[in-house]
Amino acid sequence: MNPWNSPTEAGANRRIFEEEIADFLPERVFDIHVHLAPPHGFAPGAPFSCGGVPISSYTYEELANDLAVAFPGRHTEALCFGFPLPALDRQIHNTYVGAQADFRRFFPLRLLDPQRDDAATLQRDLDQYGFLGLKPYPDYARPHDVAHAEIPEMLPDWAMAVAHERGLLVMLHIPRPGRLEDPLNRRQLQELCTRWPGARVILAHVGRSYYLRGVTGFLGPLRDLPNLYFDVAMVQHAEVIAHLFREIPTSRLLFGTDLPIALAQGKAVEINHQYTYVTPRPWSLSICDDRGRLRFTSFLNEELRAIRQAAIAAGFTREQIAAFFYDNARALVDDVARRVAPHRLPTP
Ligand SMILES: [Zn+2]
Repeated sequence: MNPWNSPTEAGANRRIFEEEIADFLPERVFDIHVHLAPPHGFAPGAPFSCGGVPISSYTYEELANDLAVAFPGRHTEALCFGFPLPALDRQIHNTYVGAQADFRRFFPLRLLDPQRDDAATLQRDLDQYGFLGLKPYPDYARPHDVAHAEIPEMLPDWAMAVAHERGLLVMLHIPRPGRLEDPLNRRQLQELCTRWPGARVILAHVGRSYYLRGVTGFLGPLRDLPNLYFDVAMVQHAEVIAHLFREIPTSRLLFGTDLPIALAQGKAVEINHQYTYVTPRPWSLSICDDRGRLRFTSFLNEELRAIRQAAIAAGFTREQIAAFFYDNARALVDDVARRVAPHRLPTP
C-alpha cells in the first residue's frame, strides 16, 4: 500500500478536504494530466521515486482507487499517458495506456519520442489504439542536453502534421530553464499553435509557472491563440492561478493534477523568484524537512486550496468552476474521441 492510502495519511488528507475543499469542488472532476505505468513499467530503474515514495507501477486500477480516496464522493475521469523518461520502454507504456483505456472514464495519449518514432509508427498506433493525442517531453528531444531542448525538436513537423490533420491533443511540458520567461519558448509556442491550427495544445503546469514572476505578463500574448489550453497540474501558488484565471478565457482552462506525484506529501513554494518543493521524505527535486518541523498534506490538497483561493480572487461563478473542473475537458476529449477513436468508444 502506498503511504497516501495508509489510515494516518489518508485520514489527515480527508480532514483537510472536508474542512477546506468539499464545499467548493463540483460533483464531477476531469483530471487532464495523469501518468500511468504498467506493472514492471519502471524496470530496469525500479522503483520510481514519486515525490519520495518508491513506486513500482501506477496502473488504471491504482488510479481508480486513488481517485476515490483523493476526491471523496466525486465522479472522476482522466486523460492518461505513460512516464516520458527515455530510460524506460515507452512502447510498453504506450501499449498499456492505449489498450487498457476504457474510453468511458479514462482516455489515452501516446508518448512521442522524436528520435525513435516516425510518422508511420505513429499513424499505426493512432489507428490501432485510438490515442487522443501526443505527450512529447524535453528529455526525448535532446537526451544529452535536456536543458536546451527546443519545442520544434520535441514536436518535429512530421508529428505536428499528423496532429494537425487528425485534430489531436498535444500535452506540452515547456522546455528550457526560463520556461515562459524564455523569449525563444514564447515565440516557438506561438508558431506551433499558429502553424498547426488543427492541433489542440495544452500548456502543462501553466508553462511550469510555479512562481509568480514566471507567468506575469506572459499570458496576454497567448490569449488569442484559440487552440492553446492551460492545465494547472502541480501548481500550488494561488496568485499564479488567479493570474491565469484573469488573463485566459475560462473555456481554455483545464484542471489537472500530475497524479501519482500529486498524492505525495509536500508543497511547491516560491522563494526569491524561484521555486522548490518542501517534502517530509527525501526527494531529488525537494528540500527535505528532515527535522520533522511540519505536518504536511498532499501536493494535491495544496493545489486544490490554491485553486479555491484563486477562484474567489477572480470572482468565478459556479458555472465557471464547473467548466474548469470538468465541462471544458470532457467537451474537448469527446470532440477528439468522436473523430479519432470511434472504434474504441463504448456503445451507448
Ligand atoms: Zn506530468
